[in-house]
Amino acid sequence: MLMCKDLAEIASDYIDGELSASQNLAVRMHLMMCKHCRSFIGNLRASTDLIQAHSSAKVDEELMRKIDQRVAAALKARDKD
Ligand SMILES: [Zn+2]
Repeated sequence: MLMCKDLAEIASDYIDGELSASQNLAVRMHLMMCKHCRSFIGNLRASTDLIQAHSSAKVDEELMRKIDQRVAAALKARDKD
């Protein structure tokens, strides 16, 4: 039987879908019985989503900055001719 501390150790793998089928089942069985772990997983999932949203926003920002630089460089090169 999976204990709360065991679940805490594999929680991020569970959210990422990286557990084996039997581990996944054990986590689900535990979550059905344990509301503490349900809220723990819920919070962890929410913060994981937040981190992913932030990191993708960062990538977009970086991309936009590079595009701006290329546009500026292209305009500069054009003005030289
Ligand atoms: Zn638990």
